[in-house]
Amino acid sequence: MSKGFLLIISGPAGTGKGTVCKALLERNKDIIYSISATTRKPRVGEAEGVNYFFIDEEEFKRMKKNDEFLEHAYVHTNYYGTPKKFVMDEVNKGEIVLLEIDVQGALQIKNNYSEAVFVFLLPPTMEELKNRIVKRGTETEEDINRRFENAFKELDFVGKYDYFVVNDKIEDAVSDIEAIIKAEKLRVKRHSDIKDKVISQGGK
Ligand code: 5GP
Repeated sequence: MSKGFLLIISGPAGTGKGTVCKALLERNKDIIYSISATTRKPRVGEAEGVNYFFIDEEEFKRMKKNDEFLEHAYVHTNYYGTPKKFVMDEVNKGEIVLLEIDVQGALQIKNNYSEAVFVFLLPPTMEELKNRIVKRGTETEEDINRRFENAFKELDFVGKYDYFVVNDKIEDAVSDIEAIIKAEKLRVKRHSDIKDKVISQGGK
């Protein structure tokens, strides 16, 4: 059996991570999405247990203390964390688990899980990035400026990732990620039994 792995996707706000991940999941029903816990308030259209587990700060601190997070971070004035048990159970079953998380969280995973694959999503240009943040219309002007400033800081981390994908057209970005997954699935290290499997098929 092929070993499962964590597929980490990060990128500045406005690169379209959410849209790309949604399209990726629609086209690849076998990929499991990791639902994070957050202290952020739900946006219009977001649902509990679908986009996030919306919890309060007290609950977040309790989970952190009990070591229930694979990684966690403070992003744009809110706490976010990946529930560990669910994610690791799925990976151990051989599944690919998609984590859409920020760079701080990705680096925590990089230090602890060598099997993870890191993809950094980039906007075609910074001008387009700003347009996308403004167009979303869900943030105050202060939020928009904070997210845009953070975008520049986050770009510094692209060198820590395994792959970059430019999100100009969504379908192209999804196809690029699918190509990465295909190659990663063929890594010899994910098939410890590959030699025995071929030999057992006979022919000698
Ligand atoms: P948003 O509030 O727009 O949904 O997400 C804000 C940022 O938090 C995004 O960069 C998103 O990738 C990141 N994020 C969402 N969930 C998690 C998580 O569980 N851990 C970390 N480290 N970042 C997360």
